[in-house]
Amino acid sequence: MSSSPLTTYAERLTEALPRVREQIARAEVVAGRAEGSVRLIAVTKSHPFECVEAALGAGLRDLGENRIEELEAKVEHFGADTATWHMIGRLQSRKTRRAIAVADVLHSVDSLKLAQKVSGAAAHDGRLVEVLAQVNTSGEESKGGFTVDSAFDEIAGMSELPGLRVKGLMTMAPFVDDEAVLTTAFASLRELSESLVAAIDGFGTELSMGMTNDLNVAIREGSTMVRVGTALFGPRTGYTT
Ligand SMILES: *Cc1c(COP(=O)(O)O)cnc(C)c1O
Repeated sequence: MSSSPLTTYAERLTEALPRVREQIARAEVVAGRAEGSVRLIAVTKSHPFECVEAALGAGLRDLGENRIEELEAKVEHFGADTATWHMIGRLQSRKTRRAIAVADVLHSVDSLKLAQKVSGAAAHDGRLVEVLAQVNTSGEESKGGFTVDSAFDEIAGMSELPGLRVKGLMTMAPFVDDEAVLTTAFASLRELSESLVAAIDGFGTELSMGMTNDLNVAIREGSTMVRVGTALFGPRTGYTT
């Protein structure tokens, strides 16, 4: 389809959403997984209110943002109950308070120290906050997350903190097309998840992995939540609040 700036978000979604849903459904079948076992999180970050409006209008109810300021602006504008708001970007520890006030799920708890901060804020507010532990499965310096070597012990520790409900794990694969590299990253998250689930009563089974470029591989390796921006909304506009 045309990426003309005159194409509205709603028009774009009319074609893009069925295409993405179809891609997810096909990947589920190929992987021998149950239909509907992968949840689509629409990543609206860096897109204006109009984008969120179109997403809601198209029936999308899981929205992902990566900056607290932008998440706050969108939640304030659309209301907390219009969607499940996913915080998927790096979280600064001094903003944990604000994060748990607006996000329904934090995907990017990337260290035990940050987990303790979130736990403290949640306990203080008498809350139980849903979180995922972000793991750096690629070893790339630029990526956040628990390092694979210490992830099991640290995430086990995290699961004992008050005020947190650890729903599972999240990762970002390297930005490459090499399927073997992607497979290694996603499979290592799944394996870590399997050992944590086996060892810890009630440890969550969610796997947040897969974006526009790698969602087929992620679903094949067990993803339960894909975070998709570009395939739905086109290139990001650099909108800032
Ligand atoms: C931006 C972002 C996405 C979406 O990426 P696309 O390639 O546009 O689908 C997913 N996950 C995280 C953590 C992101 O920051």
